[in-house]
Amino acid sequence: MSEHNERVGFVGLGIMGAGMAGNLLRKGFDVVVYNRTAARTEPLVADGAEAAGTPREVAQRCDVVFICVSDTPDVEHVLFGEDGIAAGIRDGALVVDSSTVSPASTREWAGRLAEQGVGFLDAPVSGGSEGAAKGTLSIMVGGDDADVERARPYLEAMGSTITHVGVVGAGQTCKLVNQILVVTSMLGVSEALVLAKAGGLDLEKTITAVEGGAAGSWMLANRGPQVIRDDWRPGFTIDLQQKDLRLVLEAADELGVPALATSTIFHLYRTLQRDGLGGEGNHALIKALERLAGVQARQVDGDGRAS
Ligand code: NAP
Repeated sequence: MSEHNERVGFVGLGIMGAGMAGNLLRKGFDVVVYNRTAARTEPLVADGAEAAGTPREVAQRCDVVFICVSDTPDVEHVLFGEDGIAAGIRDGALVVDSSTVSPASTREWAGRLAEQGVGFLDAPVSGGSEGAAKGTLSIMVGGDDADVERARPYLEAMGSTITHVGVVGAGQTCKLVNQILVVTSMLGVSEALVLAKAGGLDLEKTITAVEGGAAGSWMLANRGPQVIRDDWRPGFTIDLQQKDLRLVLEAADELGVPALATSTIFHLYRTLQRDGLGGEGNHALIKALERLAGVQARQVDGDGRAS
């Protein structure tokens, strides 16, 4: 039973949502879950969550409802579609969207919900599937002070860095900043590993040599080893990464600022999507550079095979 006596809903139990809802349960909150593919609710129900048949039903049973689904139209659908959250939610409730979506749509949704007496926070996250599972996400929050304080116990169950960055929509804008830093970092890691390979360096030793110094980064430490071991399992897929880069480029256009590196990386990922690699992890960015260079940055064993 929650000490706050509020029931918490969670809509969207994908790679991120499942870990986040699991951490709410582990902290003792009463949790009601919904997922479009119903089978994905089963592990959480086994851990003590209640399942609901629609987002509307989640809203009818809860005081605070979290959302973590894929893209802007998907959030719109679970909020305002038939059997959506808005159809069931009570006056005085709070909706918190942790998906990465359009800041402009976010502001519009908050306005529509306010007309129903419902609060809204945008609270996108960073830290990957690992951070969602461990409850160590960085969460960037946009919205009113009172709503942020109300949501804080739940956010703290899922993340270790909770930053209230501004009014509604500011969380999503901050997440776009985050995404520029993520992909430019991965481009740097890719360019560096291709050069290391072309220069005859041992890739494992190279990563060890540089990661503790000024060149160290989350991408190098976590995705560099995956690259050199030929492991393309996604923490974050190229297809979802492209959704975020499109949002960055739209925001840059609206705000009149250049986004040169993001634009280049968007087109490099596009070549990988064209070749059917959209389901691979975003670290597969290196494959686009490898084609240009004619060099594959894999660690090889004594037989010359990838190990
Ligand atoms: P995911 O594993 O593909 O899960 C997507 C979830 O959204 C699933 O539960 C899916 O339901 C649901 N969904 C999608 N469209 C829907 C719709 N129209 N109606 C109802 N449910 C719908 O994605 P994820 O990696 O968890 O990402 C979720 C969000 O978090 C995205 O906005 C992503 O950009 C963001 N994010 C991801 C990461 C990461 O490292 N993965 C990190 C930070 C932020 P089904 O199970 O039925 O398909």
